[in-house]
Amino acid sequence: VDVNVVPVISDSLETINYIVLVYDITEIRRLEKVRSDFVANVSHELRTPITAVKGFSETLLDGALKDEAVLVEFLEIIYKESSRLDAMVNDILHLSKLEQRQVSDVREKVKVKAVAEEVIQILHQKIDAKQITVQLTDRDQAELTIDPGHLKQIFINLLANAVSYTPQNGEVSVLIEKIDTEVVLTIKDTGIGIPQDQLNRIFERFYRVDRARSRNMGGTGLGLSIVKWIVENNNGRIEVESTEHKGSIFRVILPISN
Ligand code: ADP
Repeated sequence: VDVNVVPVISDSLETINYIVLVYDITEIRRLEKVRSDFVANVSHELRTPITAVKGFSETLLDGALKDEAVLVEFLEIIYKESSRLDAMVNDILHLSKLEQRQVSDVREKVKVKAVAEEVIQILHQKIDAKQITVQLTDRDQAELTIDPGHLKQIFINLLANAVSYTPQNGEVSVLIEKIDTEVVLTIKDTGIGIPQDQLNRIFERFYRVDRARSRNMGGTGLGLSIVKWIVENNNGRIEVESTEHKGSIFRVILPISN
């Protein structure tokens, strides 16, 4: 806490009383810490791809570029690492934009299924490349009053993960249901799953179960924290269930009207 003592002075300039102001600054301190941790994490996370790009290009300039096989191999690494940098900077900017605006002022009545279909279309290359079957079920022709960009982002991040963490020929399903005053989105995959003891950590910024694997797949570790932010700022909640080597289920519950 912060304490401030203010004397109360009478007309004859005598101190007749004191006002003691006690401020609870726990939340302010916590937010300061979250912010400074975030900056430290961002710097750390950006350093890895930057070091790779710098190191490999230096080696090429030092002469390795004369060997064509090495040249191609190194350029591929440089390309991959710079793409990851690009994705990370995009996610960081996205998160900071979301946080600045707090609640979105864009609100529209949207057909949830249409948004899910659009996202499946966006991801179709990735889906086809792994021959993953995607099934979409809309039980109640659900509609939500929401920023359509927010809803799209929820689907993009959850579906991209479902596809990324599911091996060749796997299955991903999307179920949209209306339950009382809420819409429930269930995204289920037959992928690698998440260890129980890490289930509550995956929504943290930059947290990845398997850093090397996620990095290889172009992951930034920010996708789920963006989803969580959007869901909570739309008065919703997100749940996850998972069994290692069997698959994961992400459930997003949003109020129909906000
Ligand atoms: P990333 O960009 O690494 O995918 P996310 O924030 O989207 O970051 O997810 C955090 C971590 O949670 C991932 O690195 C991965 O380990 C795990 N994860 C997320 N979704 C799934 C899923 N559908 N199946 C298995 N693991 C997942």
